[in-house]
Amino acid sequence: MADGQYTYIIIGGGLAGGYAVQGIRERDAGGSILLIGSEDYLPYNRPPLTKQLWFGKKKVEDIFAKNADFYAEQHVDTVLMDTVQELNAGEKTIVDGNGQRFRYQKLLLATGGAPRRLSIPGGDLEGISYYRYLDDYFATRAEAGEGKRALIIGGGFIGSEIAAALNINKLHVTLLFPDEYLVARVFPESLGRAITRHYAEKGVTLLTKDEPTAIERKGATFVTHTRNGQQLESEILIAGIGIAPTTVLAEMAGLTVNNGIVVNEFLQTSHPDIYAAGDVANFPYQALGERRRVEHWDNAVTMGKYAGRNMAGAGEAYTYMPYFFSDLFEFGYEAVGDVTTKLETFADWQKENDTGVIYYLREGKVRGAMMCNVWNKVDAARELIKKGATVTPDDLRGAIK
Ligand SMILES: Cc1cc2nc3c(=O)[nH]c(=O)nc-3n(C[C@H](O)[C@H](O)[C@H](O)COP(=O)(O)OP(=O)(O)OC[C@H]3O[C@@H](n4cnc5c(N)ncnc54)[C@H](O)[C@@H]3O)c2cc1C
Repeated sequence: MADGQYTYIIIGGGLAGGYAVQGIRERDAGGSILLIGSEDYLPYNRPPLTKQLWFGKKKVEDIFAKNADFYAEQHVDTVLMDTVQELNAGEKTIVDGNGQRFRYQKLLLATGGAPRRLSIPGGDLEGISYYRYLDDYFATRAEAGEGKRALIIGGGFIGSEIAAALNINKLHVTLLFPDEYLVARVFPESLGRAITRHYAEKGVTLLTKDEPTAIERKGATFVTHTRNGQQLESEILIAGIGIAPTTVLAEMAGLTVNNGIVVNEFLQTSHPDIYAAGDVANFPYQALGERRRVEHWDNAVTMGKYAGRNMAGAGEAYTYMPYFFSDLFEFGYEAVGDVTTKLETFADWQKENDTGVIYYLREGKVRGAMMCNVWNKVDAARELIKKGATVTPDDLRGAIK
C-alpha cells in the first residue's frame, strides 16, 4: 500500500490531540494534518462524563471540543476507531491498525492514559466499568435506572464524582476505598472528613479502609468480596483507580520515557520531530522547578495548543500553570500548582470546610492552592506560587478570597 504523507500527524483523538490541530493552524494554514484516534468520536471533553451529563446540564452533542465542521474547514484528515501500532522515529513513519503506513514531518503523541485495572480474580469480568470514555458513560447510563445498586471502587476524583452523579440520579451507591476519607491525596484531613460525612448524609454508603479482593458475577449481579469480609451485590460496578500513561509507541521508538513521555519546555520528546502533550507528557513545570505529569483538562487543552504551535515552528516554552477543577455535590473547587497532602497545608476558611482557600506549602513557600467555592481566583494563586516568597499563616489569611 502506498504511504500516506503528511506534514503533521497527531496520534490520539483526545483533548490534547484536538487542540493541537488548532495550535498548528494558528501558525500554518496549509500544512497537511492527519489525526488518528482509537475511539469512535472526535475529540470531546471528559469532565462532563461524571458531571453535567448526569445533571441534565449538558447533552452529549454539547461536549465536543470542536464541532465536526471544524476539521473539514481546517482540512484535517481524521481517522477514528484506529489504533496506531508502530512508530519508527528514524524513518518518520507510523503504521495504523489496518497496516497502512504514513509518513510525517512532525508527529504528536497525544495518547493520554488508560485506566488501571483491578488485578484481582474477576477484575476482567465483562461489564465492569473502568470509567474514562464516552462509551463508558453510554454503558453506565443504560444501566443506571432509579433504585439500581452501584458499587464504586476508588475514592479519588473519578470515584467520588461518579458516586455523587449516580446518587443524584437516585441509585443506591456504595463507595469502597482504602483511605479513611475521600480524595485523601489532595484534601487535608478535616476537609476530607467533612466531605465524606456529607456523602453519608446524602445517602451514599461509605466503606473506608477496605478494598476488593475478588469479584464474581451471578446473572446480572456483581458480587464483590472485600478484605474486611463484606460481600457487596450491585448491578453496576465502576472502578476509578487511576490511569497509566500510554507510552507504548514512545517506547517502541526508543524515546525517553519516565512516568510518561519525557519532553522539554518546547514539548519535544528525545526525538526533536516528535512531540508529546496532555496526560501522557512528563514536562518541566517551570513554576514548581520540577518535572510533572498532569492529568487534568486545562493542561491537556493548553499543552495540546502549545505542542501544535511548536510543531509549526513557534518555539514557545510551555511555562503555563494549568489549573484543575472538580464538583462533589455542592462543593466545587479550582486548584493550581502542587496540591498534595504530602505538603503542609493551611486552610483560610470563610466558612469551615465549605468556602475558603487551602494553601499547600513547602518550607514556608506556597506550592499550590485550592479555592473552595471561591471562583475566578486562579490567577491570584498562580502569582503567589510564582512569587515564591516565604510566608506565615498570618500573611496568607485573606490573601485570596
Ligand atoms: C470521567 C473524567 C472526568 C474528568 N474530570 C475532570 C475535571 O473535572 N477536571 C479536570 O481538570 N480534569 C478532568 N478529567 C481529566 C481530563 O479529562 C484529562 O486530563 C484529559 O482528557 C486528557 O486528555 P489527553 O488528550 O491528554 O488524553 P486522553 O483523554 O487519554 O486521550 C487520549 C486519546 O488517545 C487515544 N489513543 C491512545 N493510544 C492511541 C493509539 N496508539 N492510536 C490512536 N489513538 C490512541 C485514546 O484512545 C484516547 O482517545 C477527567 C477525566 C475523566 C476520564
